[in-house]
Amino acid sequence: MQRVEDVDLDKLKMAGRIAARVRDYAGDLVKPGVRASYVCESLEKLIVELGGSPAFPCNFSVNDVAAHYTPGFDDDVVVSEGAVVKVDVGVHVDGFIADTAITVDLSGNYGKLLEASLRALESAISSIKPYTSLYEIGRVVELEIRSLGFKPIRNLSGHNILRYLVHGGLSIPNYADRSLHRVRIQPGSVIALEPFATNGKGLVVDKQLVNIYSYTGRKPKMALTEQETRLLEIIVDRYKTLPFTPRWLRGFFSNEELNNISKSLRVKGVLHGYPVLVEAGGGMVSQFEHTLYITDSDVIVVTQ
Ligand code: MN
Ligand code: MN
Repeated sequence: MQRVEDVDLDKLKMAGRIAARVRDYAGDLVKPGVRASYVCESLEKLIVELGGSPAFPCNFSVNDVAAHYTPGFDDDVVVSEGAVVKVDVGVHVDGFIADTAITVDLSGNYGKLLEASLRALESAISSIKPYTSLYEIGRVVELEIRSLGFKPIRNLSGHNILRYLVHGGLSIPNYADRSLHRVRIQPGSVIALEPFATNGKGLVVDKQLVNIYSYTGRKPKMALTEQETRLLEIIVDRYKTLPFTPRWLRGFFSNEELNNISKSLRVKGVLHGYPVLVEAGGGMVSQFEHTLYITDSDVIVVTQ
């Protein structure tokens, strides 16, 4: 189940350097009054200018939204005064992916909440060696977050990363999961750690909105229309199994058609949809994320 494959470390490191620069630039761009679409399109453009490709659409999650929001066509989300904004970016170089995120607190009131997820990330990184158990990582994350009076979000987790696959099948918990004592970090693996802290319930729930999709590699459950076949070919050719958003396909069909065809390809099982995730108790959410490469003896933080 825990696949480890050959990694081109130069390409991964390059993806990591680009991702780090883009993430830091996100921190400069997020200001009251700025449009989410402006921020995300600027970041996605910068990734390409720096020689990478987006590994998934820029996630722009405000306040109690934890993940999987990306601007749609003609998106009107504007950052309000006092917002807590998570920006999560992914970069790949030839399929080798770096995944990183920051939180920006424009209110000045959530310093401790941000500190909780940041400290949890730093402590988790310090605790990792080859063969560290997933239980241990989750324990460290939970302890740091609780020590500042917050809760980790239990149903969001870190993950291993494979080539062209952001979620490689292994979930790295943000709480002390006793069932994972025997599951260990394998040398040669690429992993993303992403503690989420909240003053809410510590759980996220799905919203109906889906604006991010990826190719499942499965056969359609029903015959595809000509339009669906054509769009799917473009998706597989451009993104393989990486997540994308219809906004990236502007011009191939009308905006409305792109949204509708994506939805129907999801219904037919060919695309996976990523619903927007919101804190169940309406709590404020913070997140920080780094991507790590685990060598035989050491840990390299590629998005530092
Ligand atoms: Mn991420
Ligand atoms: Mn991630």
